[in-house]
Amino acid sequence: MEPPSVTSMAKLLQEPFDPMSCVANVWPAPTPGAQDTVPYAAVVDAMVDISATSSRLECVKILTRLLLAVITRAPADLIAVFYLVINKQAPQHEGVELGIGDALLLKVVSECCGMTEARVKEAYQQTGDLAEIAQNNKQKQATLVQPKPLSAKTVFQSFKQMALMSGKDVMRRRTDTIKKLVRDAQGAEVNLLIRALQQKMRIGLAEPSALAALGYAFALQFLGARCAVMTLDDLQNALNIAASTLARIFYEVPSIDIVLPAVLSHGFLLLVPRSSVFARHQRDLSIRPGLPVKPQLAHPTSGISVVLDRFNERKFTSEYKYDGERAQIHYENGKIHVFSRNSETHTDKYPDVVSVLPSVFEKATVTSFIIDSEVVAVSPETGALQAFQVLQHRGRKNIAEKDVTIPVCIFAFDILYLNGEPLLDRSLEQRRAVLYQIFTPLPGKFAFATHLDSDNVEDIQKFLDQSIAAGCEGLMIKTLEEEATYTPAKRSHFWLKLKKDYMDGVTDTLDLVPIGAFYGKGKRAGVLGGFLLACYDAESDEYQSICKIGTGFQDEALEKLTGELRPSFTAEKPRYYRAETAGVDVWLIESQVWEIKAADLSISPVHYAAIGLVDPAKGIALRFPRYVRTREDKKPCDCTAAQQVAEMYRSQSLAIQKEDVVVSE
Ligand code: AMP
Repeated sequence: MEPPSVTSMAKLLQEPFDPMSCVANVWPAPTPGAQDTVPYAAVVDAMVDISATSSRLECVKILTRLLLAVITRAPADLIAVFYLVINKQAPQHEGVELGIGDALLLKVVSECCGMTEARVKEAYQQTGDLAEIAQNNKQKQATLVQPKPLSAKTVFQSFKQMALMSGKDVMRRRTDTIKKLVRDAQGAEVNLLIRALQQKMRIGLAEPSALAALGYAFALQFLGARCAVMTLDDLQNALNIAASTLARIFYEVPSIDIVLPAVLSHGFLLLVPRSSVFARHQRDLSIRPGLPVKPQLAHPTSGISVVLDRFNERKFTSEYKYDGERAQIHYENGKIHVFSRNSETHTDKYPDVVSVLPSVFEKATVTSFIIDSEVVAVSPETGALQAFQVLQHRGRKNIAEKDVTIPVCIFAFDILYLNGEPLLDRSLEQRRAVLYQIFTPLPGKFAFATHLDSDNVEDIQKFLDQSIAAGCEGLMIKTLEEEATYTPAKRSHFWLKLKKDYMDGVTDTLDLVPIGAFYGKGKRAGVLGGFLLACYDAESDEYQSICKIGTGFQDEALEKLTGELRPSFTAEKPRYYRAETAGVDVWLIESQVWEIKAADLSISPVHYAAIGLVDPAKGIALRFPRYVRTREDKKPCDCTAAQQVAEMYRSQSLAIQKEDVVVSE
């Protein structure tokens, strides 16, 4: 891995780049008069290069250049190309998924590649790589008529149509669409098509890196020839501004369909936060009901004195930390949406939330809002708060209100938008005042998060005890006035979580991703019996191994997990996994997040978590890890970050040192 350098991206991107010649072999100039469109081959070519490159910077460069060529030559295709790169068909909250099973693909591959289905199945069982089988065997097929080259737009539109198909005949219509694509595809296009359809397309760049590349491409297009004469520092600065502004815009408006046309039509200035163009269009590119805002997150803290040190004279508040599920509730024109922490639509999951909401605010004066809240299961008999595990027993989709057996109460703790106006830049104190003014609690159904505005250590300690006694996990402690704006997607040091566990000296649980697995032995033969877990490092965009785990699982759970993970099996270790290969029976494409409890953390010669952050050459490992539950509300890239692992290790060392002092006194 390359050492991080602030100007390294600028160095790579300052080389002259000609959007016509660089991709000439896969994207020839259009015939005079014809419209320039991006061939699918250009996207595939970049993906293949990225797959073959081990340097993340080089990968970002390849993608930046593809996107720059698209912005320059065929901007109308940018949305399609970007969706193909991240292998999605619509914004996350729309819940649009390809949902193509292996059975259908095996059938298509057999029909298009001249093999029997049994033969494809056998080869697939042997190699685990259907894309490769399809590409190799399609190549052997003689074609009488050369097919028309596939365009990026055609492939994307076909994917989107398939994702949206419903009703009668879906299987047949999907099969026909895929057959048509595979028949027209050539060489590596076949491979990429199958991988995309299997959702195994990740080529080594996660979505944040793809977004950064998009920001860089817009910056380069705006700077044009000036790039070559700028100092590396100036160029890097421009690249950073573009990438971070675009990322911020996406946290607030997570829709490629809305953001890209705006940036394309108003140009790079839209990405410069201080430009007048940006100011004019700020409204277009800021939060709105119907689109989930990436929620602000909190840092763990180990004690009240740490909070006082951290906040350093700033005014703060403590709120109960409820043990439920985060719910961002949006309202506009009579329509309510509920979004999860992960920006998924949960409106169908909570018909009771939807029906109670209109009775807690004045419809005459309130036309729209976005509030942040925790939905908590409550006892139907006593109204007492129930643990998260109880909430987990509610169905997930299309629940009718009459079937709800586990009632919930909404605990609102923030408001981000009211009557057409974003409130993110106001302080929590101001936002809270608005929240209290607009809403009226309804016992057992809608309440404000219980809070205490005090910096007295004893009062906070008492409040913490009260929160635990009431069935909460601890406290959330937040700045009120200074540094108290709402920062989407940020794990902010101005929101601290104080859980009882941390104070007892028990390590906080970690949310980790299973990246590899081991088959069980004896009565567990045939099912997975152990797993290799990883944290995620956004800086290097890699999953870093942190421990092996085999305890905490019931036999039934292992069977269930084996079934759930089977579609993610992959023969080779993905390039973006940093882990020792020895002993792993099967690699898993990242798909799940598990909450893991451990005794402590130690420096490790075999694991790679947070490598370089605490020890220059060694990673950190968990000792005695135990599976607690699957975090269905988190995506793999939302798992515990390498940086957090390093912080946990450091604070544990600090706690041990403190204990040593006490003992030696
Ligand atoms: P964790 O999931 O342990 O990182 O804790 C953060 C989560 O606590 C948030 O995402 C919310 O779902 C939840 N939470 C409960 N009460 C509050 C509160 N008063 N303020 C903010 N978040 C809360």
